Amino acid sequence: MFAEVIVDVAAKQTDKTFEYKIPSELKNVAVGSRVVVPFGRRKVQGFVVDIHAEANYQGELKELSLVLDDQIPLIPELVKLSEVLARKLFTYRISILQAMLPSMLKAGYKKNIVPLTDSARALPIFNGKVIDAATVRSNADILLINKLLATKAAKIDYVVKNKASHKKDVIYSISNSKKDYLEILANLRTNAFKQKILLNDIIENYESYPKRQQELANLGIKSDVLRNAVNNNWLQKQEVDVYRDPTAADMIHASKVVQLNAEQQAALDQINQQIVRKNAKTFLLEGITGSGKTEVYLHAIAECLKNNKSALMLVPEIALTPQMVNQVKSRFGKDVAVLHSALSEGEKYDEWCRIRNQETHVVVGARSAIFAPLTNIGLIIIDEEHEASYKQDNTPRYHARDVAILRSEYNHCPLVLGSATPSLYSRARAQKGVYQLLRLNNRANNKELPKVQIIDLKKAMFAGTQFDISVDMLNVIKKTIAKKEQVILLLNRRGFSNFMLCRECGYVLQCPNCDISLNYHKDINQMKCHYCGYEINKPYVCPKCHSKHIIFLGSGTQKIQEELINMIPNVRILRMDIDTTRKKGSYQKILSAFGQGQADILLGTQMIAKGLDFPNVTLVCVVNADIGLAVSNYNASEKTFDLLTQVAGRAGRADKEGLVLIQTYNPDHYAIKLASVQDYEQFYQSEMRYRYIGNYPPFYFTTLVSIVSHNEPLAAKQAFLVKRLLTKKLSQATIVLGPTPSAIGKINNQYFYQILVKYKKEPYLAETLSYIQNYAQDIAKNDINVYIDQEPENIM
Ligand code: ADP
Ligand code: ZN
Ligand code: ZN
Repeated sequence: MFAEVIVDVAAKQTDKTFEYKIPSELKNVAVGSRVVVPFGRRKVQGFVVDIHAEANYQGELKELSLVLDDQIPLIPELVKLSEVLARKLFTYRISILQAMLPSMLKAGYKKNIVPLTDSARALPIFNGKVIDAATVRSNADILLINKLLATKAAKIDYVVKNKASHKKDVIYSISNSKKDYLEILANLRTNAFKQKILLNDIIENYESYPKRQQELANLGIKSDVLRNAVNNNWLQKQEVDVYRDPTAADMIHASKVVQLNAEQQAALDQINQQIVRKNAKTFLLEGITGSGKTEVYLHAIAECLKNNKSALMLVPEIALTPQMVNQVKSRFGKDVAVLHSALSEGEKYDEWCRIRNQETHVVVGARSAIFAPLTNIGLIIIDEEHEASYKQDNTPRYHARDVAILRSEYNHCPLVLGSATPSLYSRARAQKGVYQLLRLNNRANNKELPKVQIIDLKKAMFAGTQFDISVDMLNVIKKTIAKKEQVILLLNRRGFSNFMLCRECGYVLQCPNCDISLNYHKDINQMKCHYCGYEINKPYVCPKCHSKHIIFLGSGTQKIQEELINMIPNVRILRMDIDTTRKKGSYQKILSAFGQGQADILLGTQMIAKGLDFPNVTLVCVVNADIGLAVSNYNASEKTFDLLTQVAGRAGRADKEGLVLIQTYNPDHYAIKLASVQDYEQFYQSEMRYRYIGNYPPFYFTTLVSIVSHNEPLAAKQAFLVKRLLTKKLSQATIVLGPTPSAIGKINNQYFYQILVKYKKEPYLAETLSYIQNYAQDIAKNDINVYIDQEPENIM
């Protein structure tokens, strides 16, 4: 048999497959296997993407060296998908294959594959074996291997230190009858107290054996007693793999199944029909916040399971997963696997294995979970489908929605895109009838939408000149807290202030590596770059003219926190932004503390805007609605509308009435006005007109070509060359803009030049971009990188 392999080498022919002979002693080689192959004079990793009985190549073929995993990591669907996606995204297939694996399966394989000489194949240990993580159990093993490697006196062909492994647990099982144990107990020395505890437990709880070491330890039975018991053949000791459970520490609250209202039922019926008919139809479920979309998802998942199919559900960010995961877990229990970036690598690997081994049939996860090795999919859901986090902003630059459409087609199953504020892209497709629009117009519990008041900052009064919170907003916050109700306060900017300005000479302190001002972080008293992480001490005089008249402007969450503490005596505030949530589990901690009423105010960046459901929150405050409008992206209004609508939806979710206060210098801006009345449809109409006039998406498709180098003239020169190539090859009707330096021209000492291609139908696109991709490979060694990004999020 012969295998076609995609090899992992950074050379331009990577998308060609290479053919290898499968040696008969290699068992378990299949499409989707991760293998080691000889490539030139090296050994490299690769993926088997096809197997056939006849060789295509006429000459001498090399053999596969090694299969890396017991379990074939990639299911056939994903292997196929990698091919289609690579073509769509103008990227290499290997980068997609790697993106499909949990990080534990891609960790440092290259330098750790160590071929050994044939000499000294006489040592008794590891004879002819491949040593991998599964066989290396102890430190002693590792020491031994290292010693063997050092002396080259090993008979190991390769040592694959792939870190993937499960947690080990020690269990003790019994092999004697109850009667035997009674007899042993009777013959025991009278002062053998500890052994008596063990034997009594065995006799009384005979059925609950085998037991974990930890369980026995909890009874006060220590390892010396157990060792003794094993020596006496009372117990057998065994090591077993256990899965780490990322939600074990969470309180899973029971959620009762609610009776759907007529709107929800109508939407569900449409979805269920397609589940049963096995139709690859895409739905756009547009429902205002609180309309009960989640309940529709859960019912559809139940229908899917009833049809013996599995379900895949994506949620945008870790911030909102705890509550969503909780709901799904409470409904479907152990049948749920969770995949998102807040899990440890080990937890991710274990969850991934549970899916791969078909031990779970419901997957909830963030963007990359779209590559979960789930088979027999009957339903895919993308909640908050408009979220920017569904687009990966480094290679491979895929959008989870596009991948979901491909998987729905492969599995013949419906795809549900849900949102209160659908992306214009999806909403326009629904308009055309490409997606089927389902609408939920009412709040599920028949609650009124919260009242929204806009506070015009041009006219607002402030308690002091340095303050960001107007007197009006402050008074309502105080009143709310006095009523023992809670407040969510949004400011979409972290840190204390986002730039330092010298009032004498106008100097703004910038990052030396990036074209961006440094942010002041008061908690660590440092100036920090949010792009490259550069940090310096806070200056006390202007670094340029040494004047003392320096000020820190552009308030961030840390400053607001300080302001509130000064203005409201004894106020209890929880702050949630990147700085307070770096540690694993900190999201959950903050959210559950707030849920238990341990704070009056939850203050944070856009992390707190989405998905949260706290019944005691009756007031939502937006400190500055203009931050998002100030950026020059074509979709700034869409992002602002979305953020304001989402955060407003956090107020008044239970019995008490909700109020939303929005501070802005642009009270007449359509995005702010329409968000305040939660009128998505009107916003859609207005925004579409603006996009039409500006030749923006969704009226045009867009491709962004970025040319990046540490050497600015070189980047510029290559950018003009690429531009010339594009205009020469593409059709007349296609618009090619640029090259221009990107909005932040320099990041991490690299200069970015961008060319934007806008097109409706472009027959030469694929050919031209492939050409540029190859050209980019040729010039890559000269410190030039070219990135191709389909439908980028951030364009002007
Ligand atoms: P969305 O995801 O659309 O913002 P949710 O699914 O979170 O809305 O539902 C909002 C609230 O309404 C939740 O507290 C939920 O339990 C409740 N809810 C949903 N459906 C119903 C229903 N049919 N009857 C009563 N309450 C409902
Ligand atoms: Zn100065
Ligand atoms: Zn920087």
